[in-house]
Amino acid sequence: MPNDPNGFDFDPVALRKKYNAERDKRLEMRPEGEAQFFRIRGSAFEDRLTDPYTEFEERDPRNEDVEVVVIGGGFAGLLACARLIEQGITNIRVFERGGDFGGTWYWNRYPGAACDVEAYIYLPLLEEVGTMPSQRYIFAPEILEHVRAIARKYELYPRSYLHTNVTEARWDEATSRWVIKTDRGDEVRTKFVIQASGHYREPKLPGIPGIETFKGHSFHTARWDYDYTGGSPFEPLDKLKDKVVGIIGTGATAIQCVPHLAKTAKHFYVFQRTPSSVDVRANSPTDEEWYKSLKPGWHQERMRNFIGAVRGTCEFDMINDGWTQTFQRMSKRMKPDMTMEDFAHLHQMVDYEIMENIRARVDEVIQDKDTAEALKPWYNQLCKRPCYHDEYLQAFNQDNVTLVDTAGRGVTRITEDSVIANDKPFKLDCLVFATGFELSPFESGTPFPILGRGGKAMADKWQDGASTMHGMHVHGFPNFMISGTRQASYDNNFPFIQQVVATHMAHIVRTALDRGASKVEVTAKAESDWVAFHESKSERNLTMWKECTPSYFNQEGKADERIIRNGNYGGSPIEFEDILQEWRETGEMVGLELK
Ligand code: NDP
Repeated sequence: MPNDPNGFDFDPVALRKKYNAERDKRLEMRPEGEAQFFRIRGSAFEDRLTDPYTEFEERDPRNEDVEVVVIGGGFAGLLACARLIEQGITNIRVFERGGDFGGTWYWNRYPGAACDVEAYIYLPLLEEVGTMPSQRYIFAPEILEHVRAIARKYELYPRSYLHTNVTEARWDEATSRWVIKTDRGDEVRTKFVIQASGHYREPKLPGIPGIETFKGHSFHTARWDYDYTGGSPFEPLDKLKDKVVGIIGTGATAIQCVPHLAKTAKHFYVFQRTPSSVDVRANSPTDEEWYKSLKPGWHQERMRNFIGAVRGTCEFDMINDGWTQTFQRMSKRMKPDMTMEDFAHLHQMVDYEIMENIRARVDEVIQDKDTAEALKPWYNQLCKRPCYHDEYLQAFNQDNVTLVDTAGRGVTRITEDSVIANDKPFKLDCLVFATGFELSPFESGTPFPILGRGGKAMADKWQDGASTMHGMHVHGFPNFMISGTRQASYDNNFPFIQQVVATHMAHIVRTALDRGASKVEVTAKAESDWVAFHESKSERNLTMWKECTPSYFNQEGKADERIIRNGNYGGSPIEFEDILQEWRETGEMVGLELK
């Protein structure tokens, strides 16, 4: 757009046409939507879920009575425990599938695993624990260390059952207790349950024909096999020197591990269906003096600032990185009399500008012209997880690395020794699946049977979509609370909202105990009021997701009403926090019945 008053130097009509064409191409080629993947648990691949990191220790089944059971030892579970303990509620048990705390950071130990969000806002309980992240964006082992420090500080290890899967939670009306059963034969009765079992349920695999016939070595990135690859998260994968390796997937996980595989593999094929957007990382060590000079309360302030900076509601952007650049760019071009339509138009134009820069970066870095073209993403930035990396694109300049771009089709077949893409076989010794995770909110059912009043299953109640108050309480399921994103808020910085929810749930347990209530249940009306409010706040999301290229964000291109019903609250996380805070301040437990 020559002479554009805002300085935009591209043709938005041509870009939209290109984006739509690329999306449509993918939809045409993969009409199966989410059905193209299969659940590993219960399949012939179930042994791929075995924990390779911590030895399984036999123990006797436990039978006991407690006040609160927390299901899940990831960030949400840890935060729930911390807030409960701060409220003086210490009779807690945690059930965790992994051999230690950490959730996603326990399982994802692939080389290069790191958090793309600044550590100063991403790590929970930083001030409480007294941790100083070594860098602005830290790698997974350091995150796991902080997780363990949290568990030690709040003395959670003696209160936890690790390597333990909850198999059923059943409400017992006669005793007003939940009875929790596990795959280790435990039976624990508890007044309250907090389900914090995570946003991503488990790794998933693509249903590529012949996947079961591959005789080479293969594994999912969430169960990295260092015995086979050699090395560690810090050391080169030295056993791959004589191996031809392939990876399926080019999402946020692959972006981080590709440079490591490229460093040592004899030859390395990257099978790409849709390129990710990969912007500059520019990591840097923490300035110790600066960190020590931060005043108490800085952590919450910085987390809130991030939310404001992403949404353009704060005056000064403390974070100033890729996540916050949209509003930085917008604010320079805002006018006082802008309508909502003007604002939406400007937002779209800035998105085009950012993506143009990301595509230009590909041209700057990549030497081969065809490879560069194939690595350019054509969609709005938030249609897929934005990525930040300073070595990913560069890896494709190496002679031992080949990008196999499938122009949206993906890998079509796997044989005993090869991956077939673009009708050609690629012979491999090792195949890495970087193919993502089942997304809890959109999976039907619940992670384990949750049986409420009258033995009614939550999965049955939710057949046509979730219904909750605040994403936490479900009518018919007294004393059961959910920490998740379904009908609750979501932020690119996950832990912010997890702590908001943890604070709220701890308050409810504290109040119920103080008032001598044995039952806390949301009324049917309060639940349906929240669902209606949630839907009214979120309905515009459906149009946005329908425009996007397919990904797990939009049900692989088949966005329907479920994306609203089971999706996150459409207002900002701060707005959601305010709703909960005002609710607490009334002291009336509006919508909940205490008996
Ligand atoms: P994703 O679901 O994002 O990516 C799966 C990849 O597999 C996609 O590239 C997909 O292609 C590809 N794929 C699936 N089937 C085929 C096929 N048949 N042929 C070729 N390719 C195929 O999973 P990730 O593990 O990468 O990321 C999951 C999430 O984990 C992220 O969105 C992010 O939220 C989180 N994460 C966060 C990080 C952080 O920094 N905090 C780091 C890493 C992950 P297509 O794109 O065409 O669908």
